[in-house]
Amino acid sequence: MQIHLSKHLCRLFSLLILAIATGFSVLPFSSDPAHALGRLCKHQSNFAFALHGGAVWGSAKHPDKEAFLLDQLVTGRERLTRGDKALNVVEDSVAAMENSGLFNAGKGSVANSIGEIEMDASIMEGKHLRAGAVASIQAVKNPVSAARVVMDDTPHVMMVGESADDYLINHGVHPVAPSYFLNSDQNFSDVSLPKDVQIIPATVKTAGEIAQFSGVWGGVLGGRLNHIVIVEQIDRNGGQLIVALGANEGLGLSKPITVRVRAKFLNEYLIAETDDFRLSYHIQPSDGLEVRLSVSDGGRVSGLLKNRPSLLKSTGTVGAVALDKCGDLAAATSTGGFGAKLPGRVGDSPIIGAGTYADNRSVAVSATGHGEYFIRHAVAHEIAARIRHGGESLVQAAYRVIFKELKPRGGEGGVIAIDKTGEVIMLFNTDGMVRGSTTDKLSPAAETFYSD
Ligand code: ASP
Repeated sequence: MQIHLSKHLCRLFSLLILAIATGFSVLPFSSDPAHALGRLCKHQSNFAFALHGGAVWGSAKHPDKEAFLLDQLVTGRERLTRGDKALNVVEDSVAAMENSGLFNAGKGSVANSIGEIEMDASIMEGKHLRAGAVASIQAVKNPVSAARVVMDDTPHVMMVGESADDYLINHGVHPVAPSYFLNSDQNFSDVSLPKDVQIIPATVKTAGEIAQFSGVWGGVLGGRLNHIVIVEQIDRNGGQLIVALGANEGLGLSKPITVRVRAKFLNEYLIAETDDFRLSYHIQPSDGLEVRLSVSDGGRVSGLLKNRPSLLKSTGTVGAVALDKCGDLAAATSTGGFGAKLPGRVGDSPIIGAGTYADNRSVAVSATGHGEYFIRHAVAHEIAARIRHGGESLVQAAYRVIFKELKPRGGEGGVIAIDKTGEVIMLFNTDGMVRGSTTDKLSPAAETFYSD
């Protein structure tokens, strides 16, 4: 961690010097005068605006995120009423969510498996199909604005990694040190574990919520983790575990062997055992959780994992879609990705056509959920294509993709979308999705579950 910190600080320092020297304003490919001039749109009276704060697994409510979304919806509605451009409204609302620390984006991003923050974001406008994206960036405050700079001020659509950080900071994007991120000191294990074993730290939460940051998907998808353990509802009186051995069906990897175990704690000590493995947890009240896992092939691992309840506050990819009074659509998405993901893993959020898409001829979409599925199904573009080429309505297209294409194959998540007529849909196949919307006719409202 020390090495990472000093590496980042050196980089940040040199970038700051460069940025100051260049006045934060060298924008060689500037191509959007409308943005610079803040041009207003007044061609039509209707507009629409929707936001999401991530797919939700489990039944926990998210009143703080809903309240934040509501504020952003009120602000965005005022701006769209005045005739502000959809593109600026989606960028600014996503940037505000990134700055809040409430979501898994920007400040609140969760760390990867080696404790580093790697953020993905994208933005797209539907009039000219211009788009910008960043992936695996680590040193900027607002990934969505970095994506906007890629779109407006470079000849490219996507930039990734350290080179993207360096270039974008030199061209006006706000830099931050690793300490800016709430979870930058987060580490999922305090001891080194064998490469094929990943153990998720315990907190009193449901497996679904833990899965959001646990990297269970990223780990399985990496194809390198043969044993996945999710700790569900663990506390001093009892607990439940789900243990998966091998890959998960639908991921196209080796033959799936999934074992589900539910076990009870007795006297702070738990043992779960099958023919394949024996797993024991011992709660150490002051230090966290001692975990021992032995598998039948002779492999063995033990480690002391600290409880980090704060991680759970940081879940939630964010996204925005809008239709403005010019009739222009725009979409933006930003995320820290899955917690404990393999370093370098990129999800759907920065992939144009997967996590984000906008086309004035059809729809603007921002997605959240299991990114690997959203990439392979090109979810956002698939919805647009069904509307444009297949003549489907927004609700038909989104329902078809989320419930008929993704869900049967194990792909979990949802989308917010607005079509060219101003129709809004917020659809998900998970337990919930923090989301809200407003239109010229409807006041802002935000909720997490259908029953709210
Ligand atoms: N789609 C995001 C990713 O795969 C995660 C999420 O939306 O929760 O990185």
